[in-house]
Order: sequence, then C-alpha cells, then structure tokens
Amino acid sequence: MFSQLYTVLSQDEICADPSAYLLDRRRRYLSENVTVVQPKSVQSVRNLMRLCSQHGIAVTPQGGNTGLVGGSTAQGGIIVNLSRLNAIRDINIADNTITVEAGCILQNVQAAASEAGRFFPLSLASEGSCQIGGNIACNAGGLNVLRYGTMRDLVLGLEVVLPNGELISHLQPLHKNTSGYELKHLFIGSEGTLGIITAATLKLFAPAQTVETAWIGVESVEQAVGLLSAIRNRFAERVCSFELVSRFALSLSLEYSNLTPPLDASWHILLELTDSLPDENLSSCLADFLYEQGFHNAVIAQTGQERHELWTLRENISAAQSRLGVSIKHDIALPIARVAEFVTSCGTVLRQRYSDIRIVVFGHLGDGSLHYNTFLPDVCDNGVYAYEEAINEIVYRHVLQQGGTIAAEHGIGCLKRNLLPLVRNSEELALMSAVKKQLDPNGIMNPGKLLPELI
Ligand SMILES: Cc1cc2nc3c(=O)[nH]c(=O)nc-3n(C[C@H](O)[C@H](O)[C@H](O)COP(=O)(O)OP(=O)(O)OC[C@H]3O[C@@H](n4cnc5c(N)ncnc54)[C@H](O)[C@@H]3O)c2cc1C
Repeated sequence: MFSQLYTVLSQDEICADPSAYLLDRRRRYLSENVTVVQPKSVQSVRNLMRLCSQHGIAVTPQGGNTGLVGGSTAQGGIIVNLSRLNAIRDINIADNTITVEAGCILQNVQAAASEAGRFFPLSLASEGSCQIGGNIACNAGGLNVLRYGTMRDLVLGLEVVLPNGELISHLQPLHKNTSGYELKHLFIGSEGTLGIITAATLKLFAPAQTVETAWIGVESVEQAVGLLSAIRNRFAERVCSFELVSRFALSLSLEYSNLTPPLDASWHILLELTDSLPDENLSSCLADFLYEQGFHNAVIAQTGQERHELWTLRENISAAQSRLGVSIKHDIALPIARVAEFVTSCGTVLRQRYSDIRIVVFGHLGDGSLHYNTFLPDVCDNGVYAYEEAINEIVYRHVLQQGGTIAAEHGIGCLKRNLLPLVRNSEELALMSAVKKQLDPNGIMNPGKLLPELI
C-alpha cells in the first residue's frame, strides 16, 4: 500500500513521523496501523480517494484533532490530515463572504476577516488549533451561537471530495439558492463519514463597535434561565453570549488562572452584548436593567483587560478541570426551560449513587447546551471509564426525560455511536444508513464513527 501512495502523492505529502497525529485530544483514542498523509492540493486528495476507493482502504479525515469524541483517530488505513490545505482563497466584501480551504485554523480565518474589516463569528476555546473543515464536519457551536447560529448557519457553500474521488463544488457567494436539494447540509455534521471537505465559503458580518461584558451571580439555574429570557427580551439580537458556570467550575478555573473571583455566588453567568454601532449608553443601560431586575450581584467589565480576565475564567475551565483527573464528559443540549430541572434531578441521583462524585457544570446556556462532566475522586485515570456506562445511563436518562439530546456540538464519533439510537428512531437510522451507502458504498470513509455498529 505504502508504495502505491507514491503513485498519487508526492513524497513530502506522506508523513515520515506521524506520532503527532495519532493520539486524540483527550488521550483516550490512539490510532494504530495507520499511514498519515498531508495533501497539498485538492487534486492530491482526489487522487488519493480514487486509489483508496479502488483498494477498499479506510480513510479518516483529520483537522486540528481537537475533537472530543474520537472522530479523527483510526484503526488501520489512512489518516488524511488537512493542515496543508490552508489557503484563504477569497474575501468578497460585496457579498460579505470568505472562501477558505478546510485546513485553515479557525483563528486565522477570524484574523483574515478582521483584517478585511469584517467579523467571522464562530468562536471556541480550541480556536487556536481547530480547523474549518473539522468545524464544519462537527457542526461546531461555541460561544456566539445565540446571535449567529452554529457552523451550519455560517456555511454558504462547500467543496467536497467524495469517497470515489469525484469533486462537488459550490463555492459561489450566494445567499440564496433553491435549485434542488441543498447537498451541503449532508456534509455539515457528517464527521468525515461521507467525504472530505476541502474548502468552504462562509458568511462574514460587521465587526462589533460596542462590546459589553458582564459577570452576574445568581442563586440557581432557574434564576439564570429567567435572566436569559428577560435579557433576550430587552436586548434582542445584541445578546451574543450567555454562558453558565457553576461555583465549583469557577473555583477550579480561578486556581488554574491565578485570578481573583469577580464575585461569589452559587451560579455565575458570563454575558456579552455587542452592537455594530458605537453605543456609549449600552453599559449603563445594562447596569440599570440588571438592577431593576434584582440582579445586584454583578460586575460589568470597564476595560479590555477586565473583559479578557472574565473570558479567561470561562475558557480555562476545560483545562482547569483536568487537574481533577480523567472525567466522564457529557456534551448535552436541553430545551432551555428544562435545564434547571435536569441539573437538580440528575445531580441528586448521581450523588445518591456515588456519594463523592464531583460534577463540573458549565456551558452555553444561551442555546441550551451544557458541558456536564463527572469525576470520581478515587479513580483519576482512564480506570474511570469502567463507570462510564453506569454514569451515562443516569445522565442520559435525565437528558431524555427533559427532551434533550446526547450530543450538542461535539458530535458522535466513536464515543457515542452505539448511543445514537437513544435519540434517533429506526426510520431515521435507516435513512442515515441509506445516505451513507449511496455516497460511500464500500464503507471506506471514517469507519467506526457516527453510525451505530448494528445498522
Ligand atoms: C478546549 C476545547 C474546547 C472546545 N470547545 C468547543 C465548543 O465550544 N464548541 C464546539 O462545537 N466544539 C468545541 N470543542 C470541540 C472541537 O474543538 C470541535 O469539535 C472542532 O470543531 C473540531 O475541529 P478539528 O479541526 O479539531 O477537527 P478534528 O478533531 O480533527 O476532527 C473532528 C471530526 O471531523 C472530521 N473532519 C475533520 N476535518 C475534516 C474535513 N476536512 N473533511 C471531513 N471531515 C473532517 C474528522 O474525521 C472527525 O470526525 C472544544 C475542544 C476543546 C479541546
């Protein structure tokens, strides 16, 4: 196989030392018996896919490898790392779009948009290393979903290499197009199981000229949900981020970040309002509003440094919690009105079953998604996974009781593939399987991911 690769790729497209690309971000999944390639052109990707299709070789696309469900690791076959397909092809001011290759790092796309006087709103704590192709393949969410939607809402067009090497390309900066099925949506969120995304045309927006960031203490999640509703009613599209942080999650981040607490409360909200026009009154408007609504335990950042520190506290939670050891993570979404009930009832049952369990709750309450991570103090290493099925049973039972989903923004990968039937019925799974068979009849694209084993 290795020698055949040289017929379709140049020598420097085949990774001589693949060690940096084998282990996933959570150090849970290790790729074995794989060859890692880094194509420099779309043509190389096409040639490679043709070869793999002819020989039935498994192909796993890989972006920045920041995914949290084991999607870009593989057992056998070829890992196609997209890092070198990283050109910004076009910035179109009239249409407010940017066309980029899949291997562009998200932060570089944000910077390119900013240099052109525009704003690309997708923002995640992993933005310094995740790639646009990975963001699209996972339908990434992040911090600004409330105002700008998920990655699906930001993609106008895609270029994709199909498993047989054929190319479909619709990168025109069209904001409307009703000519037939909108095929791009099949690939958005498909986690590399239907084809390799090589480029995308994305929406741009006006940059914010006014940004107000507040940290608000609340007594309960229920109160946080009430505040969200009131804030949206008052500030409408200006509400960009509404992040929930538990007292415990904040304490971990404070210690890790070496910062002083903004305030003390059982639950915390990081709120950001933005406006594309200068508005000197927004800060006092927000202060008055919070006061009138009875939220007196709150601070509004007065300087860029203060704003930066508030965001640092939020963004460092992921890294800070890893000091507790290995966790069983849950990336869930719920109807917003039912988040509080979930947090109370699920926490109660988990603590009854595991008296010393530590639960780190934080996330994007504004769109109903939460990171709900559980730690067992006596088992700090991967041995904790022996408890995963039992803990998942409790957590997902409560998620389903509240009408939620088991995968909000990280996808299914291999971690949750056999749990997919919890949230998709047999008709849906059959349809997904039919789509997969049509596009990838030999089953070479990212095998063992997303679809359950038994369909
Ligand atoms: C600290 C931290 C914070 C995070 N916060 C968030 C968050 O707020 N919101 C959120 O949504 N996610 C978050 N994530 C998860 C992760 O960063 C995102 O899922 C991200 O979109 C993955 O991009 P990636 O380039 O790293 O993809 P990878 O991890 O490399 O791949 C992810 C999946 O996409 C597929 N894939 C990758 N590139 C392509 C391509 N070009 N074509 C087809 N398939 C492809 C892979 O096969 C795999 O199935 C976070 C992760 C970390 C570590």
